[in-house]
Amino acid sequence: MKHPIGRFAPSPTGDLHAGSIIAALGSYLFAKSAQGTWRVRIEDVDGIREVPGAADRQQAQLALLGLHADGEIVRQSDRNALYQTALDRLVAQGHAFECHCSRSDLAAQGGVHRHCVPDRKRPDPAWRLRVPDHCEIAFDDLLHGHKQDRVDLDVGDFVLKRADGFWAYQMAVVIDDAAQQISEVVRGSDLLDSTARQIFLQQCLDLPRPVYAHLPLLLDAEGRKYSKTLESEAVTPANAEHVLSQAWRMLGQMPLRTGTKFDAETWLSRALDAFDAGRIPTAQIRT
Ligand code: GLU
Repeated sequence: MKHPIGRFAPSPTGDLHAGSIIAALGSYLFAKSAQGTWRVRIEDVDGIREVPGAADRQQAQLALLGLHADGEIVRQSDRNALYQTALDRLVAQGHAFECHCSRSDLAAQGGVHRHCVPDRKRPDPAWRLRVPDHCEIAFDDLLHGHKQDRVDLDVGDFVLKRADGFWAYQMAVVIDDAAQQISEVVRGSDLLDSTARQIFLQQCLDLPRPVYAHLPLLLDAEGRKYSKTLESEAVTPANAEHVLSQAWRMLGQMPLRTGTKFDAETWLSRALDAFDAGRIPTAQIRT
């Protein structure tokens, strides 16, 4: 059996929080329990949402939890040339096109782009992927089972490069997962809806399809996705054990027997021995 290559790909929009730590620990456990590789990638394509210093703080927090990446930690902001090459190829093959539609043009199509409004000219066009009619994508999620989405009806032609010049998440994630030979994508289930788009883009670029597993999503008391912008406890040496144990519990795992004095490496090796992916719940978790 080939050993999987997994990854954790946080956006540096704040400190890691209980929700992102589930994704970090879950992706680590999946990869490492199968003697695989676990990479970390900083998804800093969105210069507007990025919080200065957050990427470094996130790396320090992962280190406190004993979650050390294999190989180099790449930053998407350094990979512009790679994304541009892919876009050029998509344009040359007729898969991608320049779009001058405004927000209101898009709203007039119900938010799902199917065609450009003729004769629109804007100084800052976006680049979209052309999604044909009846674009049905089926995949098997390791936790959620069989999924089938209609990309043309759900989202339509989607953005690869935004009008403000930043690369869209869908584009960067697909190019990087392939470039880093990621074979297993384990992440929060808020991204389950993005998966069909990513698979379609992989198909357009002849890239391999990784296996997907979408972990339970943590919601706050109001039912909103836990986010880095919400009040949440930052990881410190004093609470590292608590943070790991909490994520472990939310992944549906049985309590671990750990020693009296916490040491992240020992905790993780016990967790790897005990990890049972079959216990991971698929329902969302309310805090
Ligand atoms: N960068 C995304 C986030 O922080 C995760 C992307 C992914 O795992 O595909 O929500």
